[in-house]
Amino acid sequence: MPTTVRAYAAPSATEPLVPTTIERRDVGANDVMIAIRYAGICHSDIHTVRGDWGAIAYPQVVGHEIAGEVVEVGAEVTSFAVGDRVGVGCMVNSCRECENCRAGLENYCAKGNTGTYASVDRDGTITQGGYSTHVVVDKDFVLRIPEAIPYEAAAPLLCAGITTYSPLAHWNAGPGKKVAVVGMGGLGHMAVKIAVAMGADVTVLSQSLSKQADGLAFGAKDYYATSDRETFRTLASTFDLIINTVSSADLDINAYLKLLRLDGTMVNVGAPPEPLPVRVFTLFTNRRSFAGSSIGGIAETQEMLDFCAEHGVAPEIELISADQINEAYERVLRSDVRYRFVIDTATL
Ligand code: NAP
Ligand code: ZN
Ligand code: ZN
Repeated sequence: MPTTVRAYAAPSATEPLVPTTIERRDVGANDVMIAIRYAGICHSDIHTVRGDWGAIAYPQVVGHEIAGEVVEVGAEVTSFAVGDRVGVGCMVNSCRECENCRAGLENYCAKGNTGTYASVDRDGTITQGGYSTHVVVDKDFVLRIPEAIPYEAAAPLLCAGITTYSPLAHWNAGPGKKVAVVGMGGLGHMAVKIAVAMGADVTVLSQSLSKQADGLAFGAKDYYATSDRETFRTLASTFDLIINTVSSADLDINAYLKLLRLDGTMVNVGAPPEPLPVRVFTLFTNRRSFAGSSIGGIAETQEMLDFCAEHGVAPEIELISADQINEAYERVLRSDVRYRFVIDTATL
């Protein structure tokens, strides 16, 4: 029997989210049912419900930064037990057979991974995300939350944490490397903290200096305002790696690319719906690369959680109740977030 659970859903692209109930499938042999304690608000949730990335079916429950406790396990599940502290990120399944899946890169599944929300599930239904009290997920897509990380701090790591950890690790952020983070919101502030923990020399490039004290407290060496054109002259050909977390295409991408030194790479994790007009001549200079990166694989997500526990890396969160979700969305859209809204699901 499916279970009816409380949730918050978007009724359409233009209306506020509202309280509702949804059905969670019966716990299958390989499934785990999780009582969700906290769910983070990612800018991707907003892009999705507002239809920025294309039309979706409504009503839709979003949320892919999920932390909670196992309350039921399927007959074949031996890796998790009732009471375990667990998390779920941006995907809940993949084909498991393609080259990328076999390499542990389920996020790059050749057939497309099954997203935690707004994705067609194996049973043909549309997946519904973490702004709800419970979720049923295949055990292979469930992560362990280390004891050192409280549930509410673990939630944002499941997307903002892994999305920044993965490119930082892949492009070898570490001692002797100069890393810039563009945009200090949910992803950006995690990128700063993780890159600092990896030993890199970190600079924040934010629209203004209003969050400078925070950035320096997170361990950044420098902090510059991108509204000041002088910043782009001062920092020309400086960085080995730039992580761009900006959610909008409304920025001069070539001006940022010019900040890369020889063989430097700019990785876009920000996901604006519009294209970015990269000039190839900007790439010719210094043999620069422009790249993208999408979340991370399951094994790497566990590695990231363990890394954060070991290095004391945690997000800065603002806990909210369910009735504050719509206001939180408006604040994220105004870049007024310090630095991740997390929903206490007891208030749903
Ligand atoms: P967020 O909290 O809103 O952070 C984005 C930050 O970008 C803002 O805080 C702001 O920082 C800066 N910004 C916003 N508009 C700007 C503009 N017009 N020009 C310059 N800077 C601007 O959002 P988030 O949750 O971190 O997500 C960021 C983006 O990453 C979204 O597009 C999201 O969909 C995407 N994302 C991608 C992946 C992936 O797998 N690749 C995963 C998760 C999220 P300052 O105020 O410091 O300038
Ligand atoms: Zn996300
Ligand atoms: Zn696959």
